[in-house]
Amino acid sequence: MDLPVDEWKSYIFQKWSLLPKSIQDTISTADTLRDIFLHSSSLLQPEDEMFLKSLSRGYLVGKEPNAPPFYREEGNKKFQKKDYMGATVLYSKGISHARPHSADISLCYANRSAALFYLDEYEMCLKDITRAQMHGYPESLQPKVTLRKVECLVTLGRLQEAGQTIRDLESNFAAKPSLAAAQFQILQRNLCRLKMKVQERENLTASFPATLTKAFEDMDLREENEQIPGASSSVSLCMDPLKGRCLIATKDILPGELLVKEDAFVSVLNPGERPPLHHGLEGKWDTRVTNGDLYCHRCLRHTLATVPCDGCSYAKYCSHECMQQAWDLYHNRECPLGGLLLTLGIFCHIALRSTLLARFEDASEVIRKLCVEMSNKDMCSPESENLVQTPSSDPGGESEENGKTVKTPVPGCDLNGKYENNYNAVFHLMPHTENHSPEYKFLCAVSVSALCRQLEAAESSKPATAPPARRLELRAWGVAMLKHMLQLQCNAQALTSIQRPALSGSKENSVTNSRQVRLATGIFPVVSLLNHSCSPNTSVSFISTVATIRASEKIGKGQEILHCYGPHRSRMAVAERRQKLRSQYFFDCGCPACQKEKHRAAVGPRWEAFCCDRCRAPLQVKLSSPFSSPRVLEGGDVLSCGSTSCTESVSRDHLISRLQDLQQQVGQARKLLTSGQLERAIQLLLGCRHDAESFLSAEHSMVGEMEDALAQAYAALGDWQKSATHLQKSLRVVEVQHGPSSVEMGHELFKLAQLFFNGFAIPEALNTIQRAEKVLMVHYGPCNDEIQELQKMKSCLLDSPPISLGPSV
Ligand SMILES: [Zn+2]
Ligand SMILES: [Zn+2]
Ligand SMILES: [Zn+2]
Ligand SMILES: [Zn+2]
Repeated sequence: MDLPVDEWKSYIFQKWSLLPKSIQDTISTADTLRDIFLHSSSLLQPEDEMFLKSLSRGYLVGKEPNAPPFYREEGNKKFQKKDYMGATVLYSKGISHARPHSADISLCYANRSAALFYLDEYEMCLKDITRAQMHGYPESLQPKVTLRKVECLVTLGRLQEAGQTIRDLESNFAAKPSLAAAQFQILQRNLCRLKMKVQERENLTASFPATLTKAFEDMDLREENEQIPGASSSVSLCMDPLKGRCLIATKDILPGELLVKEDAFVSVLNPGERPPLHHGLEGKWDTRVTNGDLYCHRCLRHTLATVPCDGCSYAKYCSHECMQQAWDLYHNRECPLGGLLLTLGIFCHIALRSTLLARFEDASEVIRKLCVEMSNKDMCSPESENLVQTPSSDPGGESEENGKTVKTPVPGCDLNGKYENNYNAVFHLMPHTENHSPEYKFLCAVSVSALCRQLEAAESSKPATAPPARRLELRAWGVAMLKHMLQLQCNAQALTSIQRPALSGSKENSVTNSRQVRLATGIFPVVSLLNHSCSPNTSVSFISTVATIRASEKIGKGQEILHCYGPHRSRMAVAERRQKLRSQYFFDCGCPACQKEKHRAAVGPRWEAFCCDRCRAPLQVKLSSPFSSPRVLEGGDVLSCGSTSCTESVSRDHLISRLQDLQQQVGQARKLLTSGQLERAIQLLLGCRHDAESFLSAEHSMVGEMEDALAQAYAALGDWQKSATHLQKSLRVVEVQHGPSSVEMGHELFKLAQLFFNGFAIPEALNTIQRAEKVLMVHYGPCNDEIQELQKMKSCLLDSPPISLGPSV
C-alpha cells in the first residue's frame, strides 16, 4: 500500500524494460533528481495516463447515489441482531456516500445515533442527532430522536438541558394536534418516564463524581531542548562521521523518561486492504470495516461517528473541525484525486501532502528555489539536497557576511543551529538517490509526474490562475515530490495503535487480545534523527498523530539514543534482519545485538528451538565440517540431541514440516474460537500441545501461541482459573522471547490482570496489576488506556469488600 498498486507497478517496470538502453542509461546515471524527473516525465505518454485513470476508477471515491440506502438497510439488519458496532460502521459508510442536506444523510445519522446510544456513547449520539436535524430530518420523525436526546442528556447528568428539551417537545405537541392519537400516547408515556428520571437524577447530583480528566500534562517533556523543540534537554544532536546525525544522552536517563514528543509533519491514513475492483456495480457494496471507517482522516483519532467530506466518500473525519482544517491545509487539492492517490499509494500521497503543506511555511522558499533552477536550465545545477543553504526563516541578513553564506552545521537545521519539525527539516532527510534501483526511481518519477499532470489539469480548469508560473511551480513540486518519495523508504514512520478486538462486540469475553495495527504512515523529522538498533533502548508509541519516545532502559550519559526501524531482535532472525536493513535502509547493522548473534553458535534462540523427543534436551545442528558456516541452516541437514548421553538425531526438514502442521492446526483452532465453537477449539489445542511437547522446547513461540489460545477459550467459557494457568505459560514464552520489561510482556500482564480480576483472585490480581503497570508505564507513560484501566481495576479491588465485587468491568 506504500507503493503504487501492482498493476501500475508492473506496467511501469515493463515500460522501463522496453526503453532503449541509451535512455535507461541517461536516467540511471542522471545525478540530480531534477534530471531524473524531467527525463522520466518526458516518457509519460497519454496512453499511460489513460491506463492509470482506468485503474483509479476502480476506487469508488465519489458520492454514489445508490450506496446510502444499501448501507442503511445492511446497518438495520445488524442493528436488529444487536450488533450495534457493526451497524454503526455501516451507517457511517452510508453517510459518506450521501449528499449533504439529503434525506439519505439525515436518516443515516439518525439511525447511527440509535446504535451509538446502545453502545453507551451518549456524547456522540447527541452529536449525530444534531447532525440529522441539521441535514433536514423529517418533521414527523422528530419526536423519536428528541426522546433519545433527552435520554442521553439525563444519563450524562445534563439535567437542565434535558428539562428544557422536554418542555420544548411538549409545547411543540400542543402546537400540532395533527399527531396520531396512538403515537401521541406513546410519546406522552415516554415523556412522563423521562421527567421522572430527571427528577431522580436531580436528587442524586450531589453525589455525582466529577468527570475524570486525563492527565495530559504528564505527557509533556520535563524540559524542552532549545536546539530541537520536541526533544528533551537530556539529549543533544551530534554529527557522527559514519552514521551522520544522531542523538546522544547528555545525562543519565532512567527507564520511562520521555525523550521525544513530536507531532507528525505529515501523515496519511493507511486506507487498509484494497477493495475489490468495480464493486458496487451489481448493487453489491463493500461492507468490510476499514481504517477509514474508524479513524479520523486527519488526526487519526478513533471514532465511531465519522463526518464525511462534502465532496467525496473516502475522507471521513472525527469532527467538523478536523474536516475544515484538512480542507484548508490539503484536502481541497486532494479531494478530486482520491482514486488516483489510492492507486499511486501512500508514499506518493505523503509526497503530495508534504509539498502542499510547504505552502504554508516560509520554507516554501525551497520550492521557489527549485522553480528558479527549473526555469534556468543552463545554470550549473547543484545537488538538490544542497539547494537550501539559506532558508527564508533567516532573521534577515545577519547570516550573510561579505557575501559568504554561513554554513549550517547539521543538515536540516536553520542558521541558528535549530532543528525543527518543519518543511526545511523534512526536505533535508536523505533520499539515498544513488542506492535506489533505476526502475524504482523511474516508477516514482513517472507516478509523480502523472500526479502533477492531474493537478495541472485541475488547476487549469480554474480560470484565475496564471498558467506559465503555475506550470513551473508544479514541475518544481514534481522534483520535490520525487525527493520525498525516495526519502520515504528510509524515513517513513508507521503510526501504530494497539487495537483491541472491540469489533467482535462481545463484552462478556473480557480477555482482550490486543494487537498492534498500522494506522498511518508519516514523517517525523525529530524522530528521524534516531538511528537504528535491533535491540533499541527506547520505545515509541502514538496518540493521535503525536509520537512519543521513551527510554525503555537506563541510558548512560554519552550513549546514543536508538530506536528500532522494524527488524527487531526478538521478532526476526539475525540474517533476515540484516538483509532487510540492507535492502530497505541501505546499511549494515552493527548494533550490539547483531554483533553478538553473528558470532553465536549453531543453536538458535530458545523461542525457535526444537528439542529431543527422548530426553527433552535441545537439538543442535550437527556440523558436517568444522569449517562450514554455523548459520547456514538450509534444508537437508540433521539436528542431533545436545545431551551427551543421548544419540537421537532428526532431519530438520521433518521437524519443520511438523511445525507447519501444528501451525495450521492452531490456525484452525483460532477460527473455531472466533466462531464460538469453544469446546472443539480446546480439544484441538490440547492435542496440538501434546504433539508439541515431543519436539518443541517449552519456550517455543508456537507453544506460547497455543497456551494463549487456550487461555482465550477458557476465558470465553468463564473459567478464569484455567484461563489464568494457560496464560501464565504463554507469559513465560513471551518473557523469554521479548524480555521481562518489553511492551509485549506489558500487554500479556494486562490480560492476566483482567483474568485474575474477573476471577476475584484479589491478591494475584493486585500483584499482576502492579507488574503490568510498571512495564506499561515505561513504554507508554500514564495516559495509556490500559494503564487507566488497570488503575480502575485496582481501585475497585481496594475499595469494595470482596463479597460485593461485581462481575467484569
Ligand atoms: Zn480528527
Ligand atoms: Zn473530499
Ligand atoms: Zn542490528
Ligand atoms: Zn536426547
